[in-house]
Amino acid sequence: MDKEQVKTELLERNQQLKKWAKEYYELDTPTVEDSEYDQLYQQLVTLEEAHPELVSSDSITQKIGGQISSGFTKVTHNIPMMSLGNAFNKEDLLSFDQRIKKLTDITIEYMVELKIDGLAINLRYEDGQFVQGATRGDGSVGEDITQNLKTVKSIPMKLKEPLTVDVRGECYMSKKSFIQLNETREQSGENVFANPRNAAAGSLRLLDSSITAQRNLSTFIYSVADTDNFMMSTQSDSLEKLDTLGFKTNQQRKLCQSIEEVWDYIESFLDHRHELDYEIDGIVIKVNDFNAQQEIGFTVKAPKWAIAYKFPAEEAETVIRDIEWTVGRTGVVTPTAVMDPVQLAGSTVARASLHNVDLIKEKDIRLLDAVMIHKAGDIIPEVTRVLVDKRDPSSKPYEIPTHCPACESELERIESEVALRCMNPMCPAQIKEGLNHFVSRNAMNIDGLGPRVLEQMYDKGIIKNVADLYFVTEEELLTLDKIKEKSANNILSAISNSKDNSLEKLIFGLGIQHVGAKAAKLIAERFKYLDEIIKASKEEISAIDAIGPVIADSLVKYFENEEVHELVSELKRAELNLAYLGQTAEDLNQIESPFKDKVVVLTGKLTHFSRNEAKEKIEALGGKVTGSVSKKTDIVVAGEEAGSKFEKAEKLEITVWNEIQMVDAIENSTKVE
Ligand code: NAD
Repeated sequence: MDKEQVKTELLERNQQLKKWAKEYYELDTPTVEDSEYDQLYQQLVTLEEAHPELVSSDSITQKIGGQISSGFTKVTHNIPMMSLGNAFNKEDLLSFDQRIKKLTDITIEYMVELKIDGLAINLRYEDGQFVQGATRGDGSVGEDITQNLKTVKSIPMKLKEPLTVDVRGECYMSKKSFIQLNETREQSGENVFANPRNAAAGSLRLLDSSITAQRNLSTFIYSVADTDNFMMSTQSDSLEKLDTLGFKTNQQRKLCQSIEEVWDYIESFLDHRHELDYEIDGIVIKVNDFNAQQEIGFTVKAPKWAIAYKFPAEEAETVIRDIEWTVGRTGVVTPTAVMDPVQLAGSTVARASLHNVDLIKEKDIRLLDAVMIHKAGDIIPEVTRVLVDKRDPSSKPYEIPTHCPACESELERIESEVALRCMNPMCPAQIKEGLNHFVSRNAMNIDGLGPRVLEQMYDKGIIKNVADLYFVTEEELLTLDKIKEKSANNILSAISNSKDNSLEKLIFGLGIQHVGAKAAKLIAERFKYLDEIIKASKEEISAIDAIGPVIADSLVKYFENEEVHELVSELKRAELNLAYLGQTAEDLNQIESPFKDKVVVLTGKLTHFSRNEAKEKIEALGGKVTGSVSKKTDIVVAGEEAGSKFEKAEKLEITVWNEIQMVDAIENSTKVE
């Protein structure tokens, strides 16, 4: 290549990478996989290394992150927030180790931490009080997202010591919350997030913090900005100190004595990575000693004393055989690709949601196309790209359906939505989905009424809506396929038991647009009775903390509907409990229980209760049940075949109970009435 050619190459690669970086950092909607970005980035680095005289100060290799969104106030970081260099294999790590050892004589230990895939944040505390939170931005100037960060429960508002300190960490969304959020967005015709990282970034950069509050974000704090003034001499001690100050740090870390030990840890982690309930995109290796870090120093963009090992991309090739369209509870019609089964990241994959029409058009996905798939959030299979080179020349663009696959009414596309919708409120597919939702665990929790039973009941005209369930007779149930006397009776008693549920389960079960289980609980808690909710104004509803105008509006509109009035009268005739039965602050004061104010983790198989029942019982006794074991956990209940959580509890010396101890504690607790 002559000089001019190199210049053009450098420019073109930079332009492409800058476009991708803008989509990723500023718009929170990447259009390519990280591995594709990383590959081109590495090519640019190699070319620049061969021609250092041609490296422009404007090159993406000389810059950190993205620009600042205009909606936020700017925050200048006292100490820049940097990026990390990358390693993709063992050789890269060995050269990193050699480089380090040339730059310092201090004996090297490496602190190995998980690379959490979220959004970098800086939290500022003054005299122990949280005063400001910011994004990384371009490394020097970030966005002020204090109000949004105040809604994140793992961020302490007050430290255990009155320190003035800036700490750094990653704000992330768990895989579970990501899946739930995308499902809700898909059903309400909104664009889905590409991965938990973008969902977290999108949620933190919202201008309405009441929406952020509902996104279940969490954090891991991994460093202090100014190590000189922290009175610690190593990264490992700093992490311990951050723990004691009240921060949530990641416990899956290891101090290694050599780069070989680091590599062993990485290899051992490859298999466990999918078991974590949050996504990681690699492993960060840091020189542990702060004096050594200072000697080793920084490049313009990243510390030389740390490196991020990036996991190889997990992708698989397959062929699209069909695209199925299903109608959801709110009429949104979603496409699913049916593919030749392939192994991908630990499971066989044969179906992938295509989310909406725009995605099919954008990626130009056609029947019989060979495609690459990956798992978003490590769980949800998605089509990454079409292998256009393998496409049959006679292939035609996919024809988007114009009519509902269930009721054949014409599909509509509402402005501002990416979804196609069936607008027929009597569409059987929508009604059946609504029934399934009503009986589901987090709603009325009626056992024995699976989708097939409900479908038959609806098709035979036994039920038309959720209230009809309460008037079903044994004779009617016995007309259904595979339902004998015993199961009919079980179903009837499950239906009857559900009448005593607390109000929030009903509110959630009605499937009101935008009203999720959490919102339903807050609303029921505030108004106590269904009739009070029906009477409530938009202003009264949105005055509840964490309930925004969108939910309030949807709720008011729902209860204005004449058909809903009839449904409510029928539910009253069926004598359903229409009052909130949960705890108020006063109730909690009266509880005497070993679970009160304790953080509990349930693991392994439970035989006395389902996980959900145990959770409900413990929470009714003032405990809090969380998903992962940390230093903040008080009790771990280990059922049969308890695995890594149990081991971790032992390691952290947390009290471990077996199931019998839990049942005894529940039974011996008193809730003074
Ligand atoms: P990076 O994300 O690779 O590494 C730096 C970041 O790691 C830090 O800012 C910090 O937030 C995070 N981190 C997580 N856990 C950490 C820990 N324990 N200790 C220290 N830091 C930790 O660097 P970057 O410059 O932010 O982003 C570059 C990466 O982003 C690329 O490698 C690429 O994968 C991705 N990217 C993708 C696209 C795309 O279009 N898909 C575009 C731009 C960037």
